Amino acid sequence: MPRAVSRTSIPGRPAEIVVITVTAAQDRRRPQPRGPVVVVTGNVHGDECTGTGAVLRLAQALEPLLLRGTVHLYPSLNPEGFERRQRRVPEDEQDLNRLFPGDPEGSPSERLAAAAWGDIASRRPDALVDLHADAPGAIPYALVDRAVALRGEARANLESLAESYAVATGLTVVREYPDDRYSRFRLDRSLTGAVLNRLRVPAVTVEAGPRLVLDEAAVETATRAVAGVLHAMGLVADPVSRHASHVSGGPWRRESGPRASTSGVLVPRVTPGQPARRGTVVAEVRSLAGALLEELAAESDGFVLSPAERAHVVAGVPACTWVTGERA
Ligand SMILES: [Zn+2]
Repeated sequence: MPRAVSRTSIPGRPAEIVVITVTAAQDRRRPQPRGPVVVVTGNVHGDECTGTGAVLRLAQALEPLLLRGTVHLYPSLNPEGFERRQRRVPEDEQDLNRLFPGDPEGSPSERLAAAAWGDIASRRPDALVDLHADAPGAIPYALVDRAVALRGEARANLESLAESYAVATGLTVVREYPDDRYSRFRLDRSLTGAVLNRLRVPAVTVEAGPRLVLDEAAVETATRAVAGVLHAMGLVADPVSRHASHVSGGPWRRESGPRASTSGVLVPRVTPGQPARRGTVVAEVRSLAGALLEELAAESDGFVLSPAERAHVVAGVPACTWVTGERA
């Protein structure tokens, strides 16, 4: 059996978490210890199905390419959100990606997180790649979490290993928000944040949009990103080349774009991934009659990672997710 399928039940729910396991022929014949174990997860956010498509593609294609090791593929960690085509967990509208490692006695979302976490942790992964989708206009990117629970050399080593896997995806590599906001936004309880901080295992989030559909280009981008990580860990022979959208330089860091102070039509003015200086107008707000109400200017050198997924903006909403080259 080149592939094995297992299922984990979600307490109190009819849906199950499906896991497709692919093991290299060499390792199937060997007793423990075997080669590296990699977990690839998709669809934590139920409307983001690029990862589901990539996981199914990997399940078909990976077996003859695997030199060593085991890859556990999770097509959907939020199967009811997938069916309903919605980001959050349908039963209680919580964001699953802020709840790991979950709570088996908690809310429906916390129980789902605990079931997924328990299954993933039991696989004893050496790395995890979590596949998401951003706004339709976003460039694809690999996001690196902050090991805020660790100190000194242990933290530096783990973050640098995670970043090396992010580089191996061939995508633009973006570090998360600075520590204070990272913790305030509970990103240490995202799946990759919890894997990094609690399992102390390198993890990478890959974002390749759009949401809601299996977009061929995005699925291929995510599939190749995973293949790049598998190469970096010695599971497959060939590295992946840099994605056409790759933005050189950095290290880059995620930042909020400039926020509107009025409501109106949000008109983007720059192309995502194009380097822009501080002060560049990245978007403008216009009335429906066409009057220019406001210009929104970049607050640092960097580039637009992801334009806001909206044509109408209100006060306080950022025009985009920005990437800055400033250290923090
Ligand atoms: Zn997501």
